[in-house]
Amino acid sequence: DITPQLVKGALFTWVRPEEAKEPELLSVSPAGLRDLGISEEDVSTEDFKQTVAGNRLLGWNEEKEEGGYPWAQCYGGWQFGSWAGQLGDGRAISLFETTNPSTKTRYELQLKGAGLTPYSRFADGKAVLRSSIREFIVSEALNALRIPTTRALSLTLLPHSKVRRETLEPGAIVARFAQSWLRIGTFDILRARGDRDLIRKLSDYIAENVFESWSSLPGRNPADDGKAPAGPSVDKDTIEGPTGLEENRYTRLYREIVRRNAKTVAAWQAYAFTNGVLNTDNTSIFGLSIDFGPFAFLDNFDPLYTPNHDDHMLRYSYRNQPTIIWWNLVRLGESLGELIGIGGKVDDPEFVEKGVRQEHADDLVARAEGLITRVGEEYKAVFLDEYKRLMTARLGLKTHKESDFENLFSELLDTMEALELDFNQTFRKLSNLKVGDLETVDERQKAAGVFFHHEGVTGHGNTDEAARKRLGAWLERWRTRVYEDWGPDGNDEERTAEMKKVNPKFIPKGWILDEVIRRVEKDGEREILDRVLNMALHPFEERWGLDEAEEERFCGDVPRGDRAMQCSCSS
Ligand code: AMP
Ligand code: MG
Ligand code: MG
Repeated sequence: DITPQLVKGALFTWVRPEEAKEPELLSVSPAGLRDLGISEEDVSTEDFKQTVAGNRLLGWNEEKEEGGYPWAQCYGGWQFGSWAGQLGDGRAISLFETTNPSTKTRYELQLKGAGLTPYSRFADGKAVLRSSIREFIVSEALNALRIPTTRALSLTLLPHSKVRRETLEPGAIVARFAQSWLRIGTFDILRARGDRDLIRKLSDYIAENVFESWSSLPGRNPADDGKAPAGPSVDKDTIEGPTGLEENRYTRLYREIVRRNAKTVAAWQAYAFTNGVLNTDNTSIFGLSIDFGPFAFLDNFDPLYTPNHDDHMLRYSYRNQPTIIWWNLVRLGESLGELIGIGGKVDDPEFVEKGVRQEHADDLVARAEGLITRVGEEYKAVFLDEYKRLMTARLGLKTHKESDFENLFSELLDTMEALELDFNQTFRKLSNLKVGDLETVDERQKAAGVFFHHEGVTGHGNTDEAARKRLGAWLERWRTRVYEDWGPDGNDEERTAEMKKVNPKFIPKGWILDEVIRRVEKDGEREILDRVLNMALHPFEERWGLDEAEEERFCGDVPRGDRAMQCSCSS
């Protein structure tokens, strides 16, 4: 019997999935299988089907009652800027950890929508098919775009489960996996409980088990000497930066988590992905994109866009994501505050046992705050480096010039915004241009037309002529830089090939996911799931070898009424 409850002194509870009657395996990700090291033949076995539906527990001996038992994690969270208390896996249950024998990567396999846990609070522990389809496809799409993310292995329909949301909806389970499901919220809950022992244990666990080891963590703070790379691992536990602030191993752990999240949010910005609910419980310790509720890729470029229908303050809008992730990381810094603020005395038995003495508390807070501020500078630097790297590649350039930021990146974004151009399509279309066709003003203004929607120029107050002028002027700057990087003929063929490796043709936009949902739910179609998943897994291809008209439609213009859709959180 599972009752919602507050948990003390622990970060998880053993709990098994509810029985799922006659589960129907709808789709399996071939990339998921590969990365977990599961063979394609296994998919057709009863074992596989019952495992990803939660009916069979691999590794648990039901008769002897021994082996590995499933669990749900406990965490808390800051939601929309307010402390929300204990949350936890309310409808996700982890089955086991498994290591891919060839890559040696270890993953935790988890079922979402598998039933009640002690963390279900007032809700039902279930997930609807609609949101499960969305999570299943976007997890694998982000991974294919090389954006760090939690993954999806399979999607299972529960034909006997009717889930009450606004209406009654079919239930489903996504079997998902990640190198870690720990979140900033995992630390938040410990801080709220004042559980300093467990904060330390959790930090040690993360350094030693989630990351490779303490010595794999970054060394010198690049903000100290202005040199970019994180630097080699350090042997000494505590290093002293030029400013006199001691960085002990917990500071380095914090920096690793910060650096990972900086890179991931840079990739979101470079590919115009919005999570939509960036609460601390949805911010990964491993720097993964995590928790796919009302997420969306931008259609027309609009920095103020939020996919979250209830986000009236635009807290989780595209433009705010880097700031919000840092806000969340500051919460993490505060949870680690005592450990990082104590500097070289972190192993002092007196401190370990009793904590910091009252008369030293102010010093400790000042040191912790100082370190968090400096790590914030590192966050910015890592974010900008990664963003520049990705945007440079997306524009088909081999080098980055300081002036590119303003001349190319900003001006392109402003132009896309003003002319309401589709973000990702713009880069793909740019990939196909030949610089030799952009020699004259007339040629450039003619070429500019490829970026427009099929109904023509849609930007507020823009005429066709003004739009062509503006894009033509930008193309002139771009062309100049392409010549600089690729030589006098621009090397179109090679450059185009390189650009297409980073500029996807297919993006799982909201309207496509909606169509898939409708066709699976209402029309009973099944193959459409595998077809769209296949496109998401190979987003840089030109064709996918099935229904050409459908493929082109899914890669083309977003139907006008379906642009910039928003979702509610109900899922
Ligand atoms: P989210 O907004 O998806 O990050 O969810 C916030 C919290 O609510 C997490 O602890 C979830 O596990 C929990 N939750 C959301 N939906 C359900 C549900 N249908 N049943 C149980 N818990 C849920
Ligand atoms: Mg969540
Ligand atoms: Mg969620």
